Amino acid sequence: MKLQEFHARELLGAAGLPVPPGRVATTPGEVGVAARELLAAGAQGVVVKAQVLVGGRGKAGGVKLAATPEDAERAAGQILDMTIKGIVVRKVLVAPASDIRHEYYLGAVLDRAAQRILVMGSAEGGVEIEQVAREKPDAIVRVHAHPHLGLLDFQAREVALALGLTGPYLADAVAIAQGLVRVMIANDADLVEVNPLAIVRERAADGSERERLVCLDAKITLDDSALPRHPDLEARRDLDEEDPADTEAREQEINFIHLDGSIGCLVNGAGLAMTTMDLVKRAGGEPANFLDIGGGAKSDTVAAAMRLILEDPKVQVILVNIFGGITRGDEVARGLVEARAQQSRAVPMVVRIVGTNAEEAQRILREASFQTAESLEAAAEQAVAAGRAIGAAAGGAGR
Ligand code: GDP
Ligand code: MN
Repeated sequence: MKLQEFHARELLGAAGLPVPPGRVATTPGEVGVAARELLAAGAQGVVVKAQVLVGGRGKAGGVKLAATPEDAERAAGQILDMTIKGIVVRKVLVAPASDIRHEYYLGAVLDRAAQRILVMGSAEGGVEIEQVAREKPDAIVRVHAHPHLGLLDFQAREVALALGLTGPYLADAVAIAQGLVRVMIANDADLVEVNPLAIVRERAADGSERERLVCLDAKITLDDSALPRHPDLEARRDLDEEDPADTEAREQEINFIHLDGSIGCLVNGAGLAMTTMDLVKRAGGEPANFLDIGGGAKSDTVAAAMRLILEDPKVQVILVNIFGGITRGDEVARGLVEARAQQSRAVPMVVRIVGTNAEEAQRILREASFQTAESLEAAAEQAVAAGRAIGAAAGGAGR
């Protein structure tokens, strides 16, 4: 689960990292009020930032500077409701504008191959790190944190020095790098990224100027499997941006991933779901989804899974593949009958159920005139053939 920037900033700030203050707003009017307060408190200007769970907001026009509350309202008017990478902007962050002297990249990611947290830094901040990795791989410093002790002092110094953060910035850069790893571990995150980490020039009330390091952007991705340990973070899930199908799948505890094909797959067990997708491909078809109803699923879970699959307009055929263990075949068959009675549109369905109570399942399916298959290969082939027949009929009708 991805956190919005304003939530990520809160976590970094709570861990003692230097993060400028900010306010979330959903209307230009609210943005004007927030801007007025920030300017009254001494800000030289404000920045209005789209809060969406995708990167590259700056390039897309979702980050705008404003000198006055009126400017800020205008900027908000442009950013709110704009679409960035397919996502409609519903809220913005208003923060004091920073006078940026230099932008760096600093991030911590889970390196699964090394089984450690990898800290990466680059003096080429502001641009996407993937681009730096492609074009100038040597411009990225990489250090693995210690699994129990975190990022050690000398390691953090290595990162800071590689970025050229020496002299007065060294101690702060070390603290920030170590802080990212602490935030990562404390929240069971997969990714904690600051891009840009920036040297900014600030003017105090007495007119004196100083420069310091601050986190101007924050991106945090949490490990979904660890979310039950963090109810406070779960509560920050942004349902505005979640696909309603994903929300329903999560609530029903169904593992569901959309794909591009036309054959909907309803399977129990992740391994069997993968195998089913492989066999669909081998038979010449394309799966529309990965879907695992889990162990011991009841008929209502099956009905919910069917709804999820049918909500995807690309789905032309449904392939059901159940290996009854804890999950009872007859329970699934009943779920299928129930689901078909309620389904929003009719599509051909090929069902293969083996294992626990398979005979009872066959009887129920036969009585309800379902198309069944003995083996998984046969089921995949029948589903692909049914899809081809629909494709041919549609093609013929068009001509
Ligand atoms: P992203 O494009 O989604 O990663 O959004 P960022 O928060 O990283 O902002 C993109 C870019 O906008 C940054 O790299 C900065 O160059 C610029 N930017 C963001 N905040 C400020 C600010 O307060 N002042 C100035 N001058 N530029 C900013
Ligand atoms: Mn950024």
